[in-house]
Amino acid sequence: MEFEPVIGLEVHAQLATSSKLFCGCSTRYGAEANTQTCPVCLGMPGSLPVLNREAVRMAVMMGQAVEAEVRGRSVFARKNYFYPDLPKGYQISQYELPVIEHGRLRIEPDEGAPKLIGITRIHMEEDAGKSLHEGFGEGVTAIDLNRTGTPLIEIVSEPDMRSPAEAVAYLKKLHSMVRYLEICDGNMQEGSFRCDANVSIRPAGREEFGTRTELKNLNSFRNVERAIHYEMARQQEVIEDGGHVFQETRLWDADAGHTRSMRSKEEANDYRYFPDPDLLPLEVSETLVDEARSSLPELPDAKRERFMEAYGLKDYDASVLTTSRELADYYERVVATGADPKLAANWTMVELLGALNKDGTEITESPISAEDLGRLVQRIEDETISGKIAKQVFEPMYAEGADPDTIIEREGLKQITDTSAIEATVEEVIAENEAQVQQYLDGKEKVLGYFVGQVMKKTGGKANPQQVNQVVKERLDAKKG
Ligand code: ADP
Ligand code: MG
Ligand code: ZN
Repeated sequence: MEFEPVIGLEVHAQLATSSKLFCGCSTRYGAEANTQTCPVCLGMPGSLPVLNREAVRMAVMMGQAVEAEVRGRSVFARKNYFYPDLPKGYQISQYELPVIEHGRLRIEPDEGAPKLIGITRIHMEEDAGKSLHEGFGEGVTAIDLNRTGTPLIEIVSEPDMRSPAEAVAYLKKLHSMVRYLEICDGNMQEGSFRCDANVSIRPAGREEFGTRTELKNLNSFRNVERAIHYEMARQQEVIEDGGHVFQETRLWDADAGHTRSMRSKEEANDYRYFPDPDLLPLEVSETLVDEARSSLPELPDAKRERFMEAYGLKDYDASVLTTSRELADYYERVVATGADPKLAANWTMVELLGALNKDGTEITESPISAEDLGRLVQRIEDETISGKIAKQVFEPMYAEGADPDTIIEREGLKQITDTSAIEATVEEVIAENEAQVQQYLDGKEKVLGYFVGQVMKKTGGKANPQQVNQVVKERLDAKKG
C-alpha cells in the first residue's frame, strides 16, 4: 500500500526588539547569565507586565506579509505549567483569540509544483529561560533567565504539506520572510528561529487524516527533513505491522538519526489557560496597522517577479537570488555597474555563491565586492577576456579581494583579438599537422575542432574563440583550391 504524509509546522520566531515583551530588560544574546532580569520577568509577586508596542508592530507586519487578518481585539492568556526555567509558573501567550489569523504562504519546493500553504494563526507569547546541563559538574543543572520574557511569535500552519521537501520549502520561505521584514535574526543555532513538526500518514487517496505525532528538537533545515523522513517510515512500519500510531510528542535525536517518545497524549500537559488578569485585551489600532504596512519592504515574491521582468531572469534564478535581501541587494549592485543582468546572475549564483558556500561565508562578507564582480562581467562583455579566462581571474579576486583589471594586467590574461597574431598561430598549427589537413580535405569536417583546440592551447586560452574558428576554416578551405 502507498502512504502519503500530512505535515503541519509550528514555528517560533524571536522578535528582534531591543527590550522584552513585558518589561524593559535587554534581549541581547550572549550576556553573562542572569544579568538581564527584573522583578517583572522573574515573576515576582506584585510586579506588573507592560506590553511592548514594537513587538506588536512586528507581529502585525508578519501578519500582513502572509496576507492574514489582523484581529482588532485579541487576548493574552496564561499557560500554566511548572518548569525550572519558568519562574512565574506560567507563560503569557495567546490562546483562543490570537492577534493574527488566516494567512497563506507561497512555497516553491525543490521537488513538485509551487503551492500555497495555509497559516492558521500567529500569536504572541513570551519565551522561557534556559536550563544549562553542561559545565557545572556531574548531574548539575543551572538556570539562565536572561531569555525569560523575550518576545516570540508562534506561526501555526494548516496541515497542508505533503512531503518533507514541501515542509522544508515552507520553513525556508518563512525564514527568508522574517529576515526580509527584519523582525527576527533567524539564527537557528541560537534558537531564535525554531520549529516543531506534526506528522501523520494516510493511505494515498484517503481523505481522512491519520493520527499525528509532534516532533521536537529540530534545529536545522536538514534535521527537519531527516526527522520527517524517519517519522514517516516509522509510522508506516507500525501500521504495516498491524499496530496503531499514538498521538505523542517525540524528540529527534540527530546523532542517532531517530525520534523517540517524550510524552504521550495521556501525559500531555493541561495548561489551564485563562485570560491574564494583569493585561487588558490587546487592541490593535488602525494607526498601528498603517504603520506596520508602511514599513513593509518589498517581499521575496514581489522581488522575484520584478527580477524576472526587469532583468529577464528565469523563475529559478530569480528565486535563488531573492532568498535573502542581502543577496538580492548584492545582485542588484552588480547589475547597477552596467553588467549584463543574465551574465551577472550566472556569475553571482554559480561562481560567487559556489565559492562562498564552500567556505561557509555569508554574502555580506564576500571578499569580492559587487562593483568588482560587475567589472569582471563587463570584461567578458567587452571581450577583454573570454568566459573561460574569467574563471582564472575570479580565483585571485576571491583570494586577494583584488579588482579584475589589476589581475588581468598582472597575469597577462588579456584576450588576443589581433587578427594578424591569430592568423600567424593558425598558419603554424596548419604547418605542423599535415595529416589532419589531409583528413579535412578528404571531407572529415570534424578535425576543424582539433585545429581550434591546438590554436587555443598555443595561446594559453587567450585567443578569441570565434575568431579562431573563422580563421581556421578560411585557411583550410583555401587549401581545397
Ligand atoms: P496542538 O494545540 O495540540 O499543538 P493544533 O490544532 O494547534 O494542536 O495543531 C498543531 C499543528 O498540527 C498544526 O500545525 C496543524 O496543522 C498540525 N496538524 C493537525 N492535525 C494533523 C494531522 N493529522 N497530521 C499532521 N499534522 C496535523
Ligand atoms: Mg502545538
Ligand atoms: Zn525584565
